[in-house]
Amino acid sequence: MESINPATGEVVDTYEEPSDDDIEEALRRASQTADSWAETSFADRRTLMNEAADVLRGRTDQYAELMAEEMGKPITQGRSEVEKCAWVCEYYAERAEEHLQDEVVGSEPNAHTLVSYEPLGPVLAVMPWNFPFWQVFRFAAPNLAAGNVGLLKHASNVPGCALAIEEVFRDADFPEGAFQSLLVGSSEVENLLADGRVKAATLTGSEGAGRSIAQNAGRNLKKTVLELGGSDPFVVLDDAPMEQTVESAAWARVQNSGQSCIAAKRFIVVEDAYEEFLDGFINELESYEIGDPLDEDTDIGPQARPDLMEDLHEQVEATVEAGAQCHTGGEPLDREGAFYPPTVLTDIPRDSPAAREETFGPVAAVFEVADEEEAIELANDMKFGLGASVWTEDLERGERFARKFESGGAFVNQMVKSDPRVPFGGVKASGYGRELGRPGVREFVNRKTIWVQHGVGSISLGE
Ligand code: NAP
Repeated sequence: MESINPATGEVVDTYEEPSDDDIEEALRRASQTADSWAETSFADRRTLMNEAADVLRGRTDQYAELMAEEMGKPITQGRSEVEKCAWVCEYYAERAEEHLQDEVVGSEPNAHTLVSYEPLGPVLAVMPWNFPFWQVFRFAAPNLAAGNVGLLKHASNVPGCALAIEEVFRDADFPEGAFQSLLVGSSEVENLLADGRVKAATLTGSEGAGRSIAQNAGRNLKKTVLELGGSDPFVVLDDAPMEQTVESAAWARVQNSGQSCIAAKRFIVVEDAYEEFLDGFINELESYEIGDPLDEDTDIGPQARPDLMEDLHEQVEATVEAGAQCHTGGEPLDREGAFYPPTVLTDIPRDSPAAREETFGPVAAVFEVADEEEAIELANDMKFGLGASVWTEDLERGERFARKFESGGAFVNQMVKSDPRVPFGGVKASGYGRELGRPGVREFVNRKTIWVQHGVGSISLGE
């Protein structure tokens, strides 16, 4: 396995893939550790989770540089990502116990009935390269705190990040086998899902990978959570506070060099606000610094791989050929590395790629609509349903509008984000299940009903 710097094309490092014996040994360790880890107290897990947060903070620069080299993330954004990972560790160190308390439920007067939340064991996490630390910690922190153990199959272009994350847990004194990275390709996932020691799986990645993992997990009757793609609408109503809206819109599109599942991708603007929005939006996007991800001033780095940039450019070309107008960008930059500039398209036919597909790079599709009704109709006319946002001075109107989005999350006057405190996930082709929050921490647990009868129980009808 090789990691290649997308800003220069140079090989960062090469890694040996594990043999069949190595994989067998990792599974054995995971299964063995799962038994003892499930028995540890929340207090013990809390100590180790807090230690993991300290390890992360102590290596912020090192890990931010690693992300910049392996997948081109601008260094300042990499530091924020490491800090967010430390936060999620601390958050679940504190909150896991509260979310997983036994829940007493009413049944009959002569019985004590409750639901207990018991860990499942080794959970396979198949993860993407775009937030190579955060996506993994979003899975690992709640799940390790819940008593599960993690097996990571990270994206093949970020093996250094995969090993660094394993090192965080090792150096925080988690037991050997509590969190392991397997440097394997996607073809190995089917075998892992078929192994009886792997109890469940979570994927953050593309729709295609989601379908494949769901099929394989289904064949083995294993629970899955799927966090897939998105084409989030960003709806601008006629009373939107324009200056802040434009600033947020531009950053919502180009954060992480445009490679975010919850980046705003379709900007739906009512006609009274359209001209002002479009002018401001283009100006803001053109003001960003594009360059070396290791440079402190860089806002937008390279795309993570040249082939992904080519796919993005093909979507832009096909949309323009279908009749769209390109206002800025639209061509890879004429320089070394996979650099694609912020690109704004308008007059987009509804059946063209920018209207129908996810654009995983800094390409904004801007639509003009007559009114609120047309805005929500267009926002929901998409196979994905991950996040959505609406911008307006009138908060009640915003909340009413937010309830109409077909999405797993809806924000008013706020960029869509994943935050340790609230559940995150999608509907429709964006997947199912939740990470984070109470629903997230309860995905990979056995919600066991315990019924204690006082006195002798009556004969029941069974099922
Ligand atoms: P990807 O190609 O689906 O890869 C994601 C992970 O899945 C990688 O580890 C990949 O391994 C593995 N994989 C790919 N095909 C597979 C298969 N058939 N069976 C098993 N594993 C498979 O996605 P990506 O290009 O890395 O990431 C971009 C996509 O992820 C976008 O669609 C984005 O919206 C989505 N995403 C969603 C979220 C969310 O929270 N909903 C967050 C971030 C990204 P290899 O690298 O070895 O191929």
